[in-house]
Amino acid sequence: MKFATKVIHAGIEPDPLTGAVMTPIYQTSTYAQESPGVHKGYEYARTQNPTRGVLETNLAALENGKHGICFGSGLAAQDAIMKLLEPGDEIISTNDLYGGSYRQMMAVYAKYGIVCHFIDLADAKNLETLINEKTKLIWVETPTNPMLKIIDIEAVCAIAKKHDVNVLVDNTFSSPYLQNPLDLGADIVLHSATKYLGGHSDVVHGALIVKDDALHDRIRFIQNASGAVPGPQDCFLILRGIKTLHLRVQRACDTAKQIAKYLQGHPAVANVYYPGFESHPGHSIAAKQMRDFGGMISFDLKQNTEEAASNVLSNTHYFTLAESLGGVESLIGHPASMTHASIPKEDRLKVGLTDSLIRLSIGVEDPEDLLNDLEKALSSL
Ligand SMILES: *Cc1c(COP(=O)(O)O)cnc(C)c1O
Repeated sequence: MKFATKVIHAGIEPDPLTGAVMTPIYQTSTYAQESPGVHKGYEYARTQNPTRGVLETNLAALENGKHGICFGSGLAAQDAIMKLLEPGDEIISTNDLYGGSYRQMMAVYAKYGIVCHFIDLADAKNLETLINEKTKLIWVETPTNPMLKIIDIEAVCAIAKKHDVNVLVDNTFSSPYLQNPLDLGADIVLHSATKYLGGHSDVVHGALIVKDDALHDRIRFIQNASGAVPGPQDCFLILRGIKTLHLRVQRACDTAKQIAKYLQGHPAVANVYYPGFESHPGHSIAAKQMRDFGGMISFDLKQNTEEAASNVLSNTHYFTLAESLGGVESLIGHPASMTHASIPKEDRLKVGLTDSLIRLSIGVEDPEDLLNDLEKALSSL
């Protein structure tokens, strides 16, 4: 089955009871049993729910995995992975990891003895100096946020395999339409389905996808034992969003190409970070491991101040000033004061995250309207 067919059909059959073409929302907490222990495979909705089950099967197919496991948010999915670890175990991750993932590792799990290292994984060789017998997990995010660096998934997995260490890829920024880490050697894929999978900014949801049966059993145990499961209505919304994933993400990629080029030629703009540019240091790896270059762009201004950025941010009309990404509507954000405000300024500047850096999540509106919107906002400088 090709991707555009999978989003509509993988794991999705008309409801066996009624023939309903769309997956019903099974809004129930429990299921009748004929006699003790004799039931239709469903006992209690923390453990099994048919709406969630359909979504889990569909997600496994989209990532070319075997098992999908859904959670109430992307960070709840991360939490389940952290619970696989023991005190003293080490994680190696990237130094511009999603802020919420960093916060969970450092502010929640460090006190249970989990040790996390954050290094520049854009050069996979940096792993070699740090990996040791305590390393239990490599945590990759690519493209990174907000600098849109590219990490070579195959190269990271090759090093991890030599040391028998699992690799997790947070695939939120790419979505399964653009990148399938399990095919490149990764062991676990994580999604904040809140973003591209849901696609309409109306639900918070997370998922893990794996191939290995034993790893699946361990995660499934934690899903039930810790209980951070999504409700059936939220699973329905993600299933509904996924049906147009390929159309939305392709449109965002096409428009992002135009907008990145426009920004690069604008006299008020200093740097544009977009992996689709041949001059981007990760361009050839992105071209190898992604089907297109995504709908995210970051740029900073020649007038490199927070005030200048603030001027641009408050003068767009179609680009809404908000956190998050991956919805049908275009969003604009200021990482230094929003998503990355807790990072000390000198650490920010070291990775190029300047005071005037602006991040765009391109939606599916008319590209000309979006270009005109940015033109108007940039002319306010
Ligand atoms: C949003 C996000 C998360 C966290 O997901 P939630 O659904 O907000 O809990 C994790 N990783 C990345 C890359 C994200 O963008």
